[in-house]
Formats: sequence, C-alpha cells, structure tokens
Amino acid sequence: MRLLLTNDDGVYAPGLAALHAALCQNHEVLVVAPETEQSAVGHAITLADPIRVRRLGPRTGFNGWAITGTPADCVKLAVCELLEEPPEMVVSGINLGANVGVNVLYSGTVSAASEGSILGLPSVALSLAFTPATLDNPDFSFAAGFATYLVEQYPSLGLPPEVSLNVNFPPLPGEKVKGVRFTRQSNARLKERFHRRTDPRGHLYFWQGGEMMGRDGDAATTDFPALLAGYVTVTPVRHDLTHEDALDRLGQAALHLPPRL
Ligand code: MN
Repeated sequence: MRLLLTNDDGVYAPGLAALHAALCQNHEVLVVAPETEQSAVGHAITLADPIRVRRLGPRTGFNGWAITGTPADCVKLAVCELLEEPPEMVVSGINLGANVGVNVLYSGTVSAASEGSILGLPSVALSLAFTPATLDNPDFSFAAGFATYLVEQYPSLGLPPEVSLNVNFPPLPGEKVKGVRFTRQSNARLKERFHRRTDPRGHLYFWQGGEMMGRDGDAATTDFPALLAGYVTVTPVRHDLTHEDALDRLGQAALHLPPRL
C-alpha cells in the first residue's frame, strides 16, 4: 500500500522513526511531518503564515518532506500538493503519550487522522502511553508491529469513510499487553495546573501542566480505564460533532425567532 505517514511530535521524533521502519517492510511510505513539535495544537491549520517545506533527503532515511505547519496542514498539503498520487491510507504517530478521553480534542496526532478521513482516506492515529519509568526510553516496537498489522487489517473492518481509528498502547512490553478492546472515548481529561514562575527579567509567566483525571470507569468499554488495565484501545472517532439525541430533542422543543430582534 502507499501510505502517508505523519505525526505531531515532529519529524525527528523516535515514534515516527519506529513506525516508519515497521511500515516500510511491506509498504511504500511517504513522510510529511512537522519540522518542530506540534503536540496539542489540535486541528489547527496555518492561514496567516507561509508553510515552508523541506525535502527529506536519503540521509534522513525518509522519503518525503518536513513542513513548518501543523499535523492537519501536513495531511492537506501532502494530499493536495506534495504527493504525486493520493495515499491509500493516512497513518499518524506513534505519539509519545496517550490520546484518550477529552484530550483527543487537543491532539495533533488524532487531528491528522481526522483530516485524513475528512479527505475521504482511511486513517489511523497511534499513541503510546508512558510512565515516569518509560518516559526517557519508550519502547515503540510492539506498537509499531501492531500498527503494521492494523494497516493490513483495516480494509476488512468495514469502517465508513467518515470514521478514523484512534489507537492507544499501554506502556508495556508486548508479552504483557492483555489484548485489544474496542472502546468509546471516556471523560478523562487533564486536571488543570498552571506552574506560576518569574522569568530572569522579573516578569510573571505560567507553564501549563496537569495530571490525567477520570481513571475510574468501565475498562471493558472506555478508552482510559482499558488502557490503564493494560489493553490496546481502538476507538472509532468522527469529525461530525453533532449530538444526535440532543438534535432530536430540540426538534420537539419550541424555539422561535423572538418578535423584535
Ligand atoms: Mn505529540
């Protein structure tokens, strides 16, 4: 298959290299990735600035481009301008850090896959959770191997084109991973914490951090609890944010234009 590979951790991220090495064994892989880290930019696109592109030469080990845009820019620009033929699939990752619960909305990794589905392409986002013990030396090998398997299985899953898959891996060696669960997005989110500091010139600044909250829940059905229990989670996501039940209810409500507006 001809695959477009992108990420939000930037073109130098080890997760991108690990995924590239695995996918290259059986597929043609074209890389269009951000020049610098774009984590948590969500689905942003670049409109007020130019998007500069740099061809990745043979010494990089990649065939493709690094660009000064966001993950969503990478997919748009790759499909519309940079690739001679459209890819058959978009693969985003492997992000260092889980993308579960509400954090899916902030994720550049997931947004790149969503952009792929908006353009009508089968798309997968891949993220590896970490612990303080694995952060400095994350092992992407199991995730990269599973990604290759998933890419090959994707056509048999029968997914509608408006759906992309958000896949998360627990920070475990392959033999300790408990299995695969199809999950829904949980309500897990970062508990806000702003570190209040003063710069060397005496000016106040803040650095945003925070820990994930929302660990409780049904590990059989929801993404973060299942990930914490040691499962690979596969969540189908869509970019249409309409709440169907609420829309039905609104259809029965009386809301009219006020007489004088
Ligand atoms: Mn990231």
